[in-house]
Amino acid sequence: MNQDMQKVLFSEEEIAQANQKLGKLLANDYKGKNPLFVCILKGAVVFLTDLVRQIPDSVDLEFIDASSYNGQTTTSGEVKILKDLDVSVAGRDVVFVEDIIDTGLTLKALMDLFKERHANSIKIVALLDKPANRQQNVKVDYVGLQCPDEFVVGYGMDYNERYRNLSYIGVLKPEVYMNN
Ligand code: 5GP
Ligand code: MG
Ligand code: MG
Repeated sequence: MNQDMQKVLFSEEEIAQANQKLGKLLANDYKGKNPLFVCILKGAVVFLTDLVRQIPDSVDLEFIDASSYNGQTTTSGEVKILKDLDVSVAGRDVVFVEDIIDTGLTLKALMDLFKERHANSIKIVALLDKPANRQQNVKVDYVGLQCPDEFVVGYGMDYNERYRNLSYIGVLKPEVYMNN
């Protein structure tokens, strides 16, 4: 285990099981539909690569980078697109691939944007659902694992851009935050 980690919440094996479960559901629901999987950078990259390899049919992959404004004065659904897709989503069956849903602000905004862009359907798959801080009531269609109300890192998720490469998901020691 990485020396900065206090505890492991989800092991590599638990994550692999969640991916198998999600892959089966998605493979079944999108059979013959050639869906467009939209990975939300950067946190969902590791999840995406494991997830799509559980699906036997072809799916298209795109990447988007968005940051949500989290201030109290901000209207819900406001999001800044830092990197947009390279293709049109009009008429496409879109599946947003997210590492973790927390407030729900990012996905609410992205869903609204893709509705405006005339996607045929939009669903969400998230490896982790952390409902404790939800501000927007987004429907997460496919959830891998329920996450307790803690800040987690690993398996794509970072603290100050670190720890994304860890193969498990865990919680950092408190002193890691004090020293950064
Ligand atoms: P939202 O609050 O809009 O639902 O989530 C926005 C993003 O915040 C998530 O996609 C994820 O990248 C990041 N995030 C939310 N909770 C955590 C967490 O516990 N750990 C890490 N590393 N990132 C998180
Ligand atoms: Mg994310
Ligand atoms: Mg981050």
